[in-house]
Amino acid sequence: MTSGNSPKKDSSAGKSGSNAKLTPMLTQYMEIKAQHPGCLLLFRMGDFYETFFEDAQTMARVAGVNLTSRDAKSDHPVPLAGVPFHALETYLNRLLVAGITVAICEQVEDPALAKGLVKREVVEIISPGTITAEELIDESAGHYCLAWLPQKTDHGGWALLDASTGEFRCGLEQSTLAGLCLRHPVREVIVREDTPGPELSRMRLAVPQVVITPVNSAWFHPSFARQTLLDHFQVANLAAFGLEEGDRQAATATAGALLRYLESLSLGRPRQISSLRFADRGDRLVLDEETLRNLEIFRTFRGEKGEGTLIHHVDGTVTAMGHRLLARRLAEALTDTQELAHWHAGVDSALQDRTWRRNLREILGGIGDLERLATRAATSRIGPSSLRLLGESLEAVMRLAKASSVGEHDGHLIHHWAEKMADFSELAAELLTAISPEAGSTTRKGGYISSDVSDELDRCRSITADTKGFLAGLQAKEREATGIPTLKVGFNRVFGYYFEITRKHLDRVPDHFSQKQTLVNSSRFHTEELKEAEATILDAEERAGRLEEEIFNGLLDSVGPRQGEIHESARLVALIDLLLGFAEVAERNEYCRPVCNDSLDLSIKGGRHPVVENLLDCDFIPNNTEVGLPEQQLLLLTGPNMGGKSTYLRQVALIALLAQTGSFVPADSAKIGVADRIFTRVGASDNLARGESTFYMEMSETAHILHQMTSRSLVILDEIGRGTSTYDGLSLAWGITEYLCHPAGPRPRSIFATHYHELTELENDLPGLVNLRLEVKEWEGRIIFLHAVGPGRSDKSYGIHVARLAGLPEPVLRRSEEILASLSTADERDLSARTSRNPRTPGGASLAADSPLSSTLSGRPTAQLSLFNEVERDALDALKGMDLEKISPMDAFMWLAKIKEQLTSRGSE
Ligand code: ATP
Repeated sequence: MTSGNSPKKDSSAGKSGSNAKLTPMLTQYMEIKAQHPGCLLLFRMGDFYETFFEDAQTMARVAGVNLTSRDAKSDHPVPLAGVPFHALETYLNRLLVAGITVAICEQVEDPALAKGLVKREVVEIISPGTITAEELIDESAGHYCLAWLPQKTDHGGWALLDASTGEFRCGLEQSTLAGLCLRHPVREVIVREDTPGPELSRMRLAVPQVVITPVNSAWFHPSFARQTLLDHFQVANLAAFGLEEGDRQAATATAGALLRYLESLSLGRPRQISSLRFADRGDRLVLDEETLRNLEIFRTFRGEKGEGTLIHHVDGTVTAMGHRLLARRLAEALTDTQELAHWHAGVDSALQDRTWRRNLREILGGIGDLERLATRAATSRIGPSSLRLLGESLEAVMRLAKASSVGEHDGHLIHHWAEKMADFSELAAELLTAISPEAGSTTRKGGYISSDVSDELDRCRSITADTKGFLAGLQAKEREATGIPTLKVGFNRVFGYYFEITRKHLDRVPDHFSQKQTLVNSSRFHTEELKEAEATILDAEERAGRLEEEIFNGLLDSVGPRQGEIHESARLVALIDLLLGFAEVAERNEYCRPVCNDSLDLSIKGGRHPVVENLLDCDFIPNNTEVGLPEQQLLLLTGPNMGGKSTYLRQVALIALLAQTGSFVPADSAKIGVADRIFTRVGASDNLARGESTFYMEMSETAHILHQMTSRSLVILDEIGRGTSTYDGLSLAWGITEYLCHPAGPRPRSIFATHYHELTELENDLPGLVNLRLEVKEWEGRIIFLHAVGPGRSDKSYGIHVARLAGLPEPVLRRSEEILASLSTADERDLSARTSRNPRTPGGASLAADSPLSSTLSGRPTAQLSLFNEVERDALDALKGMDLEKISPMDAFMWLAKIKEQLTSRGSE
């Protein structure tokens, strides 16, 4: 195991110290450090976690901790940086964000009882992707570690694990690493240790924000991985997880490797992992990397979260689990029309019955993050207040189950889910009775178990309380006896209880007081009576502490076996929350109920962009969309800059996507023939880090779409071909349009926005291509954008007008207008010459049934012929007709020479 920047430095940490004569404590440190070479070691010393040698330097650099040194005056000072134990989380977070894996080494015996050096052990290893502590993870998002096994010829294997919730799934996919990391909030990726360096570098460039950890390659070996899974789940085969069907070895390999990785970090069996699911992407509308980015689903183009993103505007959930489910649903929407019909009907009735909905949402508001709470309880990393919250949440789950079947909702999806919830009444009551409402987040201070839970605990507490009362009496008695008004009883951990007397009154201290400590202005004393009281109190307090711990551990034992059921109920709570959230958003934003069917049509009336409509100062102009075979398969959209083309394209894709999440949609009505994929290619973006130019990116993304699309896909293209010269761009845009519409191809529903107005001529030649335009009005020399989509073509882009709005200097604008005028005149002359050659399409090209493109799509070989001229074809025919058995070597040579001469003389003509 290695981490972002920790592994190598650690071995040298050992060397730095090897010249020095190490103290027993540093020897112990070095021994433990050697067992965890890939981690930064936080070494507990009393109230501090210390780091030494290069770990200390890393700690100072990354976590901003003061770097000092031990034995500063010696020849071999040891670099040292420490943090107080109670502030660990802050520093830990900084280390993890920087991609460093951290090993926590605790004192595992009471220093007071230790003979010699206190025993220490690493109790936990935390890597950036496997954190479970609530303070260190975003509560509303998943926190995934991904295992990735790219395959050269086949679909790559992946496995995802959220150690904080126990969610564990795997699959096969032809996706990119970046695509997977965009779909899910991945913090760390594990790959085989023997991944070649350049490939590793490419991965790091593809996902710079994610830590990539190479791990033992053997963990990925299919047999080893399989065995890891069999051992963990204690099963005879992997059929229950869907891993015995077909060739799913790469998925098994990644799941096994990931589990093994978690085992190595947890230093044992990760108890929170109770199941595994093979995710078959066939039943999901999975969005690829570009589409997630282009549609700004989770982040804006600039990489920001919040207002500009789709998730921000369609999130009506109130629980962390519901929010995480929404994110998953947006990245992997549904395709089963029956399932979608149930969702839409469910949202509809939740929308109608506002009282029922509000009541359920109020109960949901009282449910904490059950998934994470149960995981933390199962791994004994939960504090008293969180365990109480688990109890409160389970109690709320019971109330939710009951409230969901109130009224007319017997057959409702929510009722159906609620019925599946286990009965947690007893467990909830046990937790709520035992843990005090005032309990703190840790067990350190005690007092977190309620009274009336244990007679013995109550007895200890009353002894402590009585004795404290007795001490107060003792203080009053001694004040009176000595006549010292300021005499008071105090306590500290080193000296226990004492009487403190200020210097002024020291001459009045009686003989039975024996001195314990002298301070500048006072002295501290004890008496036999005080010592006895102290022993009683400390005894009772220690006993109470032990009793509280026992009761607390008993509660954890009660939760442990129910972990699977709690996770299942958390899943159901998330579904209920998501459905009610959809209803809430539908009401708030006036969305309509869509109809999803198996047709290949998409019909939207009065569609709106779910994000833009909320951000505009003015009214959003709704638009209609009819796209589908046979008449309207490809909509070619032209219009002025700023006219609203990109908004329209995205709005169609987002409405289709939202409908397939089960949500209502921003439209007056929508009929959606479900899409298997939504592909988008929007605007020019480049990835210089990956060494790919703007134009290369554009073409490679388009190639991906043209290879992957099916007749059930929805393809959205915005300004393809603009990253190169006008003619190259136009030709490519043209070829792509023909390909999308070709009768022998899949003919997906497509919308293509372009400023190449020449393409609108294709309406006459390509069946299924329909021109649409964004309307504008010219009025008193000004342009008014109507943002309304209508039939027809646009012949102007009004680019100079938009440039004027953007504030380009007036001389530049005037000169541009002159140039435009002269270019347009030349263009008109050229166009009339070209159209006279072929009146139907500019440039004279046409999509003849036997064109090369046609034969590629239909599988006929005519494209080959066009590559050769007549002489070449004669030569080929002669070659085909030759009988090699009968011809002598000399004749063959003569024949070849003749052909060569013919070909060469033809070539030089
Ligand atoms: P360009 O060709 O320059 O890329 P465009 O035609 O793609 O421009 P958009 O970016 O979609 O234009 O829209 C420009 C602006 O117009 C949007 O930011 C939005 O403010 C406004 N707009 C777009 N569509 C609508 C609409 N339907 N109703 C109201 N305003 C709209």
